[in-house]
Amino acid sequence: MKCREISSDGDVTVRITQCGHIDTNVGFIENRARGEALLIDAPFGAFDASVRILSAGVKPVAVLFTHCHWDHIGDAHIFRKLGAKMYAHRLDRPWIEHPQMMALVSGIDEQFVPCAIDVDVDDGDVLDINGWLRIMCRWCPGHAAGDLIFHMENLRCVFTGDTLFRGCIGRTDLPGGDEKLLISGIRDKIFRLPDDTIVIPGHGGTTTVCGEKIGNESLM
Ligand SMILES: [Zn+2]
Ligand SMILES: [Zn+2]
Repeated sequence: MKCREISSDGDVTVRITQCGHIDTNVGFIENRARGEALLIDAPFGAFDASVRILSAGVKPVAVLFTHCHWDHIGDAHIFRKLGAKMYAHRLDRPWIEHPQMMALVSGIDEQFVPCAIDVDVDDGDVLDINGWLRIMCRWCPGHAAGDLIFHMENLRCVFTGDTLFRGCIGRTDLPGGDEKLLISGIRDKIFRLPDDTIVIPGHGGTTTVCGEKIGNESLM
């Protein structure tokens, strides 16, 4: 499992690695000087990865969920037990709080531990993580009902979950799926970000806003 540095600004570094059954990208945004980190998604294996990737003494203080699907949530309960706050859209909250329901719908034979959500996130919310990280949140549904994208302007990156991938878009045949809504959300909310913004999807390689405007075949 490789860990890759995506960007940095002062004491803050963004790294990603892949965890779980279908190589879900997990984002680690760490402020070494403050001894705090934030995760984007927490699939199975994310806790072990955090021990390896985060600098000594750095504590995860928050987990932000791009959406509720089983491949993004398996280790969330571990981080919450250790004191991290959980952030998700209210439409995806029930699936994370009752994950066996999600496992059943997805036909996944895995034991999930429920994880309570502490903060409901909605379109346009700007999160301030303990004064060192500002995150613009947009609701971009159509893959799931509660898809969120997280833009960190100073770090020049956006986490798009399973809405937008390098060269394609997320599937829309699961509960809450809606292709028209997904495509309009990508155009209105992701493609209006600066062209050089690094796009970090829920799976697969990273790309840029400009690269997807030009080269995404699902949007031609
Ligand atoms: Zn998904
Ligand atoms: Zn996924």
